[in-house]
Amino acid sequence: MSGRNLSVGGNCDAYCTRCKMDLAHTIVAMVEGTPVQVICNTCNGAHKYRAPKSAEKAGRSAASKSTGTRGTSTRATGARKAASEAAAEKELKELRRRWDAEIGKHADAPTRPYDVRGDFGKDDVIEHSKFGVGFVVEELQDKRIKVLFQDAERTLICRHGS
Ligand SMILES: [Zn+2]
Repeated sequence: MSGRNLSVGGNCDAYCTRCKMDLAHTIVAMVEGTPVQVICNTCNGAHKYRAPKSAEKAGRSAASKSTGTRGTSTRATGARKAASEAAAEKELKELRRRWDAEIGKHADAPTRPYDVRGDFGKDDVIEHSKFGVGFVVEELQDKRIKVLFQDAERTLICRHGS
């Protein structure tokens, strides 16, 4: 049995869309030696010739291998990014919560404009030209203070030059 001897009325293997598998079909029309219309020997359904899936699959799995790997790594990167964004958002929320608590505590404390030469200590309320209102949460060594702003905790210089 040779595949080269295909002819109308003869048999060939084709994919049947109704049976959803590779089956023997009877060729009803051919163009240039290739079956174009076939009848399924199993369900008797007439349809366009489709190459057997077993042959098609071999080519496709090789092609999907590379794209599949790429797809996985893209998804993983996306998940990592989402996780770090969620962590950053959580941290920001926590800062806001602390900042809100501080502003409640220091409701009637005077706000002093921040200046590198200023003398600031714990619990002082400062107003920074760029970062806004902040609270001194800790006095650090070397004339530095840790200040809680709405969006971040920053280390600022104080008593500079004194
Ligand atoms: Zn069929």
